[in-house]
Amino acid sequence: MCEYTYSNGKKCRRKPLKGSKYCSLHIPFEEGELLYGEKIKEIKRRAFEKALERGVRNFEGVQLYEVMIAGKDIEGPLIFRNSTIGRIVIANSKLKGLTLINTNVESVVVIESSINFFYVNGSTLYGLSLCSVEFSSSILIRNSSIKYVMLNSVEYREAQITAEEEYGERGRMAGRVELSNLRGVRRIAINSRYPLIKRLAEELGIEFNRKRKPVRIHMLYIGGIKFDESPRFKRQVRLYINALIGGLTIENTSIPGHAEVVNSRIRYPEFVHVTVHNNFVLKNSRFYSDETWNLTFLPNLLAELEVLGFIVIENCLFNNPYLAEVFYRIARTTWERSGDKEKADEYYYLEMIARREKLLHHYLRGPKTPRRIFRLFEVFFEWLFADLTCKYGTDWRRPVFLWVSLVLGVFPLFYYLTRSVEVTNSFFDYVYFSIVTATTLGYGDLHPVGVGKMIASVEAIFGMFMWAVFLTVFARKYMR
Ligand SMILES: [Zn+2]
Repeated sequence: MCEYTYSNGKKCRRKPLKGSKYCSLHIPFEEGELLYGEKIKEIKRRAFEKALERGVRNFEGVQLYEVMIAGKDIEGPLIFRNSTIGRIVIANSKLKGLTLINTNVESVVVIESSINFFYVNGSTLYGLSLCSVEFSSSILIRNSSIKYVMLNSVEYREAQITAEEEYGERGRMAGRVELSNLRGVRRIAINSRYPLIKRLAEELGIEFNRKRKPVRIHMLYIGGIKFDESPRFKRQVRLYINALIGGLTIENTSIPGHAEVVNSRIRYPEFVHVTVHNNFVLKNSRFYSDETWNLTFLPNLLAELEVLGFIVIENCLFNNPYLAEVFYRIARTTWERSGDKEKADEYYYLEMIARREKLLHHYLRGPKTPRRIFRLFEVFFEWLFADLTCKYGTDWRRPVFLWVSLVLGVFPLFYYLTRSVEVTNSFFDYVYFSIVTATTLGYGDLHPVGVGKMIASVEAIFGMFMWAVFLTVFARKYMR
């Protein structure tokens, strides 16, 4: 009998290999290679396949060069415990589940397959790659050491719930991808490029759909990740999320490089105790939240998400202005800290628009009390005087352009059309009168009549106001 003792105290009942105390599955690589040379690979491969055919699903303490499951439909979850495996490849297959507990694997690749659940705990992996995979329960990678985690075109497909699967946590766990308490991580990537997978697929003759689909799940939870701190990865994008549709929570994680969220549709983005040491880029994405989320989570976001580099928000949509305001605000503060006032101003402007929309949103709903109507007027005047004239003080060209076009164009035209300035010889006189009025010089050589008095009053107020605006904007821009 093989000498291997399982953790439940029972002994392995397989026949030992000739010259060894262990069977073909349990014999250590070195001993096997000493006894059988290269042939040990074939021996182990056959032994594993045979065991699989006989219906063995639970492997403990095995040492295998490769686990290759291609084009199979396997009932019952496949479990590896306390094992050492070179590579696990699952392709074009249907699996009930795959579990790795306290197991060492160089790489795990699942391609073009469907799986109920995938569970890794206490294991050591170099790379984990799921490509074009459907799952019906959850993917949980916990308490392990993994260098690269890649998910491409992974989709949650709700399955019929059978009685035995109906347990308390199911509702919460279904559709969840969890990466928690991982160590030595170099990169977590959702829908990144996958040249290695393509090469592997060609090498092994695996058919797979190259058309990329978004990762569509209920929730991506990333928590307690200890990234590899070595400086040669410092400048890399450590967390790359592309084309993710679903919820996103990141917790207790300090990312030593960059983080990116692009082309995604994120429901309830939550960052709890997260630090990004480099830049955080949000691009071409949409973010959704609802009232409860706004109340419970949003107020804490500013304290919970710390970005030491810049936050870049480009071409993003937020389903409500509360969310937009907070995101633009944290983006603005990162640029202000670095002294890039121009960029900070861009985000300040977006923040103010969001804030105005938030107020509008708030006062348009509910009963129209006098106070609310008054507030609506306030919002309108804010738009008129602060936004329209100078983009909340961030744009000095706008007041100049407004002043020039109104004083030299629009007002003279009004005077001309209404013939409301006395003793004029040419259109230039109207322009001259307009300038004298707007600058409140008022020589009195020309004077308005009839409706012209009203237009001149408006113009005088406009001129004074714009002068103040221009000075403010100019000072804000160059004198700080
Ligand atoms: Zn054995």
